Amino acid sequence: MSQGTVKVRFWGVRGSTPTVDRTTWRYGGNTPCIEIETGDGARFVVDCGTGLRILGRRYADTFGEQPIDAFVFITHYHWDHIQGLPFFYPLYSEQNHFHFYSFRSEYLGPDSLKRVMQTQMALPYFPVDLSVLKAKREYTEIAGGDKLEIRGIKISVQWLNHPQGCLGFRFETPSGVVVYATDNEPGVPKLDQNLRDLAAGADIYIHDAQYTPEQLTTNHKGWGHSSWQEGVNVAREAGVRNLVLFHHDPDSSDRMLDAILRNTRQQFANAWAASEGMVMTLDEKQMDVVMRDTRTGQRREGFFRATIVGYTEEGRAFEEETVIRDLSLHGALLYLDNLPRLQSELQVLMEAPVDELHPDGRIPLRGFVIRREHPPGENRHAVGIVFAEEVDPDRVGG
Ligand SMILES: [Zn+2]
Ligand SMILES: [Zn+2]
Repeated sequence: MSQGTVKVRFWGVRGSTPTVDRTTWRYGGNTPCIEIETGDGARFVVDCGTGLRILGRRYADTFGEQPIDAFVFITHYHWDHIQGLPFFYPLYSEQNHFHFYSFRSEYLGPDSLKRVMQTQMALPYFPVDLSVLKAKREYTEIAGGDKLEIRGIKISVQWLNHPQGCLGFRFETPSGVVVYATDNEPGVPKLDQNLRDLAAGADIYIHDAQYTPEQLTTNHKGWGHSSWQEGVNVAREAGVRNLVLFHHDPDSSDRMLDAILRNTRQQFANAWAASEGMVMTLDEKQMDVVMRDTRTGQRREGFFRATIVGYTEEGRAFEEETVIRDLSLHGALLYLDNLPRLQSELQVLMEAPVDELHPDGRIPLRGFVIRREHPPGENRHAVGIVFAEEVDPDRVGG
């Protein structure tokens, strides 16, 4: 990784409670946790939802017996932002060192985060107590308005509008600005301004998009969350380059999130729906996005003719004949002349024997672009897609 590169990895993107439903599998069900890694190896973890467990596993793979040193920022103490802490295995090893940053809660007093961890691991809620966490831990109290500098990264902190308080963070790195502002409800002018100050000119702005604009004004008013529409408003007013919708509602299926992202992109083209395993890389302000490959199960190499209909990066519609060379139950690998947009939908019409089920000799499928590569010696783009679930969750069950 070059000195000027910063990587933002999404380990948990779901709000409120983890989900394991198949209908939420593509975007992912772990609760909030992201990691920001700078070119010189400084590591910032923001929020400790269940996604933190996956990050711990990844650290074990990359560090082995080498010590880990990381800075952990916690926005607030609601379950979905702390749940992963007892399952973050690097905390159990004494060679590791974690610097925690969070605010003093009026309900907990001094050492709020330490108390949270003690309570989380207290009897009878957890089998072992805090003394088993052998890693060196330091706790720093921060509050809205604070400015810090850690390993050359400037960090600004602001209060957001959320029950029992919540902090938003702005990380200014040599390659660009990353802003994390989740668990926030619009409508309080001073705090709305805080958010815009925090987000001003951000290269990556991570926004709480839990509710629909309708829910926000009706049954979920006062719950402390925001919507994709508000994300567009903030992104425009603050001159943001990339808007990332985050903290997805546990009841939002992948299909619903696809629709939310489509609506958002109609108003703000550089929008993304945070998905587990997604990595955004900023290098000299250039951005690259990669999705986790969610194609699981057996893959079959083959030769399946198909017609692909979609939209390019520039938003131009295209239709092209191709051959699917690798197919699994969950997705396929295609080679295309056109470069479709990441996280955009493709219609895949696969050639099939003409029979009663397929009178026109085609199987229609919906796919979502999760990967785009340029293999050496191949002049077309290799495009990885996952198929959309055909099952409508509302129609399942008796
Ligand atoms: Zn939350
Ligand atoms: Zn919360």
